[in-house]
Amino acid sequence: MALSGRPGPSSALASTPHDAELRTAARHLARRRFLTAGAAAALAFTTQLPARGAFAASRLDAARISEDPFTLGVASGDPLPDSVLIWTRLAPAPFEPDGGLGQQRVEVSWEVALDESFVLVVRSGTALAYPEYAHSVRVDVKGLQPGSHYFYRFRTGTWISPAGRTRTAPPAGSDTASLRLAAVACQAYHHGYYTVHGHLAREDVDVVFHLGDYLYEYAVDSAGGARGYTDVVLPSVFNRETTTLADYRMRYALYKSDPDLRAVHAAHPFVVTWDDHETENNYAAGIDENGSDPAQFLIRRAAAYRAYWENQPLRADQLPHGPDAQLFRRLDWGTLAQFDILDTRQYRSDQAYGDTLHVPGPESDDPARSLTGDAQERWLIDGWANSTALWNVMPQQVTFSQRRMDLGADARMSMDAWDGYRANRGRLVAGAKAAGADNWLVLTGDVHVAYAFDIKDDFDDPGSPTLGTELTCTSVASGMDGAEHPANWDTYMRANGHLRFYDGRRGYLRVELGRKNARADFRIVPAVTTPGAPVSTAASFVTEVGSPGLTPV
Ligand code: FE
Ligand code: CA
Repeated sequence: MALSGRPGPSSALASTPHDAELRTAARHLARRRFLTAGAAAALAFTTQLPARGAFAASRLDAARISEDPFTLGVASGDPLPDSVLIWTRLAPAPFEPDGGLGQQRVEVSWEVALDESFVLVVRSGTALAYPEYAHSVRVDVKGLQPGSHYFYRFRTGTWISPAGRTRTAPPAGSDTASLRLAAVACQAYHHGYYTVHGHLAREDVDVVFHLGDYLYEYAVDSAGGARGYTDVVLPSVFNRETTTLADYRMRYALYKSDPDLRAVHAAHPFVVTWDDHETENNYAAGIDENGSDPAQFLIRRAAAYRAYWENQPLRADQLPHGPDAQLFRRLDWGTLAQFDILDTRQYRSDQAYGDTLHVPGPESDDPARSLTGDAQERWLIDGWANSTALWNVMPQQVTFSQRRMDLGADARMSMDAWDGYRANRGRLVAGAKAAGADNWLVLTGDVHVAYAFDIKDDFDDPGSPTLGTELTCTSVASGMDGAEHPANWDTYMRANGHLRFYDGRRGYLRVELGRKNARADFRIVPAVTTPGAPVSTAASFVTEVGSPGLTPV
């Protein structure tokens, strides 16, 4: 796994991770010919990779930390049968570029227990929080029992973090009866309160999938945008778009200053993937929204990817090397479910037709174009072929099913979604069919509305077989309050027979996977621009094992 081959106990990033990282980064940069020497040097500078031998930062006596360093909470993620990744980040001054800890290393101890009072501690150890990683701490806690719940916390000096609750996956190959998951996406801080996260923190779910747009790069004004603070004034540093590593780090700190976001992370393990806004709106691989010099944009992407990793419960396998990171990955839940978590930003061809809403045509349908990239496409199709799971679940970002935005033959579609990459989608559909991946469930974010789709073999033929189900989780905050029936609701429902449900309000998706069927509940709040809105279920659907297609319940 992540830390195999490194000496020491099951602790966080082993004591000197930087040399290996630098060597990999150097090999990577050597391959990346279009990066000029100047850009590569700037990249190393921007990401503050320590030079070899320069890793002489002194160790801070934790007793000297005079303010609570656990302001950003705790998190856990990517549960395996015998391990789970636990995370925190020290920041006594979260809205300052160095978090208030300067360039010093800090020793942190951690413990994992069976009980909330930490009487029955089963694993413990120490880890170092490095300034190079924004004083984030991650521990791949190994030797745990499968299918079990645990509590975890961190300590430095006299400060003790809040406790988090997490769990491991069931034993590999076991016939697990059920799994309750949730999916969330799109949490623009400046669009509203995280009421959705507050409710989700109180749900009884095993794992939460975050499908991207964890943060937005846009400026947030000093009143917090739609939150309209009268009692809080945000530092002016947030009133500009994020472009540097310091900007992205502070933006994560702003988002994690929200108690509901900290609560949901403390309550459940997360499995995260990014979409565009963690870096920049609608970027495609090395091409940004404005068509900047790719060498320049990749410097920004490296900063964004690094800050993402520093602030998420991800293993060292996902540590970016310069502007690249291995984020697509696979997790299993016994024989009940295989999760193929996609990255549809890092490898995609540039959006067709200038990323306008457009009728698909020769440019978008060019089979050489890809949303996944070739390697991820092969990995996904091979994974289905080798899957022994009852449910093949594909957590990812952009709308997979066809979505006609107009009535009539020449309907426009989103060139940023799979409709803009139909050849790639067609290869996946063929691969899923060939692999016999029935019980195919796609989980989607990005669009700030809730959808339920029957995935059709041929979306233009209502009589063609249904191959699976796509559930889109709406947004946590992005889009502000929204409306049950947005202005295009009637058109979309009439133009897309396979679209079974559409709701434009904020919320989260809850799914219970069983061995006979799966049940999906669309959980909705009526408002996020005012705090404290209640949650309710707007619609529920069931899909039966071996019989794809949604039935309302
Ligand atoms: Fe979004
Ligand atoms: Ca997005």
